[in-house]
Amino acid sequence: MTWVSLSEDGVRAEIWVERAAHRSTVGKVFRGKVVRVMPGMNAAFVELGESRAGLLQTKPDAAASIKDLVRSGETVIVQVTRDGTDEKGPRLSLSPSLPGRTVVLMPGAADRAVSQRIEDATERQRLREILVRVVPDGFGAIARTVAAGADEAAVAGEVGVMAEAWKRKVGSGSAVGEIDAGPTLAERVLQDHWIPGDAVWASGAVDATALRDALAIWTRGRDASNADSVQIVAADDGARRFKHLKKDVEAALESRVELRSGGFIVVNEIEALTAIDVNTGKFLGARSFEETALATNLEAAREMARQVRLRALAGIIVIDFIDMSDDVNREKVREAVVKEFAADRAHTRVGAFSALGLLELNRKRARPSLRQLLTVRCAACHGTGAVRDRDEERGGAE
Ligand SMILES: [Zn+2]
Repeated sequence: MTWVSLSEDGVRAEIWVERAAHRSTVGKVFRGKVVRVMPGMNAAFVELGESRAGLLQTKPDAAASIKDLVRSGETVIVQVTRDGTDEKGPRLSLSPSLPGRTVVLMPGAADRAVSQRIEDATERQRLREILVRVVPDGFGAIARTVAAGADEAAVAGEVGVMAEAWKRKVGSGSAVGEIDAGPTLAERVLQDHWIPGDAVWASGAVDATALRDALAIWTRGRDASNADSVQIVAADDGARRFKHLKKDVEAALESRVELRSGGFIVVNEIEALTAIDVNTGKFLGARSFEETALATNLEAAREMARQVRLRALAGIIVIDFIDMSDDVNREKVREAVVKEFAADRAHTRVGAFSALGLLELNRKRARPSLRQLLTVRCAACHGTGAVRDRDEERGGAE
């Protein structure tokens, strides 16, 4: 198992786990051999050197038919776009796209594009010009969101390393088989979630040297003191700190989370949604109930957001805050929730308080939750959380 965690300002913010047996093959690149072209289906089978041949299929609306793209017996470079199943081989594409941190590189393409999420026209233009200068012929590239504000040396450094690595992999040998395993879990976290200043902790199948090299390229031209705060801990020298991660993981699988003020929240993840209940601790007479409720709700908003990210919760999340009579206080709590999700890379929509005082969120699903990954359905209650009362079954006879 590979564990990766990311801390922001010294606080653990997210945890990823990957089991070797469940590792997706999406993104892997193979040198394959076309074994059968089926013009009627606009598809072709490609031998990959694996147990099952992959399926290459052009979209129904594609301009070129499969016959124009590949011939039987031909060697092609293909990328897995969808995992295979027990019955079917993986889905393949003839247009590989290689994600980096600042760019997605596309061998064989010619585009020089900028992520739609960078909206500033001047910045878009600046990045497009950088791509025109630094991306070698034979590659297309898209500047990713994180490229906003990046200097040319950082983009050029990453593009150079990626393009060279690609040429080396494709240029060596002609045998059918895997030529690029795609990024590891730790690399994906660094590419997609890490920002300078965050600490990354990784254990398991981690190549710490490769990760440090990647970080050195990404932080080129940036504040060096920020880059220094990155920690990559390989499994062997991280045993002690691994205990801390394990403890956090165990806590993230519990439903009850204590608040410092004495209150607590209960996180209940079920199939359709996640319900989070906020409870006050002891009522302290010094303050009015409304003040106690507001203070507890504000603390709960912070802790709830932290738990949502730690547990990788997504989809509909409904929070039952402590009832408050003042609309101004409700708005304060709602604003606190919005603020807490600002650092989150997953997009979260925060609704308005309902008439009955519930707040509803919708967080974009990017991966299974920790609970989905690390637990199995209880054999005794089959996931319902309750078993038949034996007394009742016997007819209540005592
Ligand atoms: Zn049970």
